[in-house]
Amino acid sequence: MDKRKLVVIALGGNAIKQAKEKGTVEEQFKNVEITCEQLVKMNALGYKLIITHGNGPQAGNLLIQQEEGKKLVPPMPLDIVGAMTQGQIGYMFQNTLQNFFGQKGKNIPITAVVTQVLVKKDDPDFNDPSKPVGPFYTEEEAKILEKEKGYIVKKVKPTSEKPWRRVVPSPEPFGIVESNCIQALVDARAIVVASGGGGIPVMKNSDGTLSGLEAVIDKDKAGNILAQEVNADIFLILTDVENAKINYGKPDEKALGTITVAEAEKYLEEGHFLAGSMGPKVAAAIRFVKAGGEKSIITSLSNAVDALEGRSGTIITK
Ligand code: ADP
Ligand code: MG
Repeated sequence: MDKRKLVVIALGGNAIKQAKEKGTVEEQFKNVEITCEQLVKMNALGYKLIITHGNGPQAGNLLIQQEEGKKLVPPMPLDIVGAMTQGQIGYMFQNTLQNFFGQKGKNIPITAVVTQVLVKKDDPDFNDPSKPVGPFYTEEEAKILEKEKGYIVKKVKPTSEKPWRRVVPSPEPFGIVESNCIQALVDARAIVVASGGGGIPVMKNSDGTLSGLEAVIDKDKAGNILAQEVNADIFLILTDVENAKINYGKPDEKALGTITVAEAEKYLEEGHFLAGSMGPKVAAAIRFVKAGGEKSIITSLSNAVDALEGRSGTIITK
């Protein structure tokens, strides 16, 4: 029996592409290398690892390719684009980690799992989609896409030449279709990349079959469900800040260290964490501990190892 602690790591966008970068393959591999150096350290400290990641910039770029390439080849819908990014990013992690461990003479199985995530067809977000995806458009371009493709489009910037974007629903995830496969791989001592980009949203039809949906799932929410389903010990959310903060952006701003679930819930209710960024992270971190996890951690990539050992970051415990 493998008694090592299992960590589910949710990697933020900056682990693969920095905000200022275009997203060339060289840039992305460089970032993945920096991330994998930390993962190798965690492995050396004796943690079992499942890695999940965002896919916003990659999916955005692929959507532009669908859009621009549709005169030549059929464009792919959002669920397929999600699957494509899981393969793309999964490959970069597999390749980089295999090379790193290979150089150390370690033979560790590493694989990425294309992952479907269950959402409910009647999720309220399907009635009023709010998550912007893909390229920006002029009002005229947006209206054409609305008519011809049935896209829901919204003006997402007050002023700009191209302030319109397609918006898609961001439903609540409630199950990971491949969690048994992921668990089996972990039991076989593999490092697994799973549920990338929040997972491919699927719904269950009345006959029990699954169908993909044009939606996007928050990766921190899906990461929490995954961590629960594989009975992880620790849920580690890595982003571009060392701590979650209260009074964020105000003169009396304060970084949070080790806090209880009750304290985290109080701060969340008081509105200290912004919706769409830190809010879903803290909410997911709370849910994991409430569901029986040992602890959730929110910190930056460079602090990750210290935080796992209890020396840094925002740590939420019972
Ligand atoms: P990721 O790609 O890692 O999911 P996000 O941009 O979604 O990154 O979330 C991280 C960001 O959350 C930080 O860069 C920070 O700007 C923002 N943020 C919002 N509220 C807070 C808070 N209370 N404390 C710290 N950061 C916060
Ligand atoms: Mg985010």
